[in-house]
Amino acid sequence: MRIAIGLILAGSVAIGTVWLHALVLGGIPAPQTVASSAPEPIPVPAIPPVLAKAVAANADPLAKSACKNLDALGIARVVEIDTTGGPGFGFEHFKQLDFLRDKEVVLTFDDGPWLNNTSAVLKALADQCTTGIFFPIGKHSTYYPEILKQVAAAGHTIGGHTWSHANLNNEKLTEQQRKDEIEKGFSAVRWALGAAPSPFFRFPNLQHPPEMVTYLGKRNIAIFSCDLDSFDFKARSSQQIIDTVMNKLDKLGKGIILMHDFHKRTAEALPTLLLRLKAGGYKVVQLKAKTPVQTIAEYDEGIIKDVRLPTVSTRPLNSVVQTISE
Ligand SMILES: [Zn+2]
Repeated sequence: MRIAIGLILAGSVAIGTVWLHALVLGGIPAPQTVASSAPEPIPVPAIPPVLAKAVAANADPLAKSACKNLDALGIARVVEIDTTGGPGFGFEHFKQLDFLRDKEVVLTFDDGPWLNNTSAVLKALADQCTTGIFFPIGKHSTYYPEILKQVAAAGHTIGGHTWSHANLNNEKLTEQQRKDEIEKGFSAVRWALGAAPSPFFRFPNLQHPPEMVTYLGKRNIAIFSCDLDSFDFKARSSQQIIDTVMNKLDKLGKGIILMHDFHKRTAEALPTLLLRLKAGGYKVVQLKAKTPVQTIAEYDEGIIKDVRLPTVSTRPLNSVVQTISE
């Protein structure tokens, strides 16, 4: 979610009412909030009925039947979200929909895909036969499409997180540029995957401009804030990330956890964090979208111009080309 601006390479910024059908399994308990950044008031779209839909946990390849780790954290249940009208989730900003039961968590990872760190996160999740939602940056997806494909191949849910991680509350951006950031981001992920991702979106820096919340509603894209922020992007050690998450979780009892597969310390923390979750009696809920996002053809076509040419070889010049005779 947060990322140093300098890390966003190249490219430019040219750039949702939520009546929701949250298809949720089971009960609808009540959450609490841990404020990280100052939560701004967000327009809440008209809220239609919350629809619940149960999906068998074992129906997924990530689930217990395919898991070789008998003590794995695993996946407790699978929840399918109908994103019609752009429902908002995560009590830091959206308090209408509470689908998690006590002791349930949703793992979310932002700002990837990235070299090494995303793969390490994938390994940690695979070792525990569990899953999360990834919110990749569009540009990063064009840099490392193969890594993003690995995320999809492992069965994780993938959404969008803008094209260049622009703060959509930046007053210098026009409304069109904000929309472009959202749409181009989704089209970039689609390009990288070769298939449309889920209509799940997270605003960079958890900054939610009201008109974009309304826009996403019209686009039938769900918005994911979080219940608890790991603050991994500024953690000095992996232990600090683990402590932050567990302390907040023990206070809240459940929640959507915000982390970053982009960051090394998060990747380092995850194996132990997952063990701590298991030991603490927490259960992971897998979220899936009822239907993929409908990207816009104009952006799908435009993304190709922004895609870097693939690197053919990373070998140094002198190992590839040698003068044999002069
Ligand atoms: Zn981010």
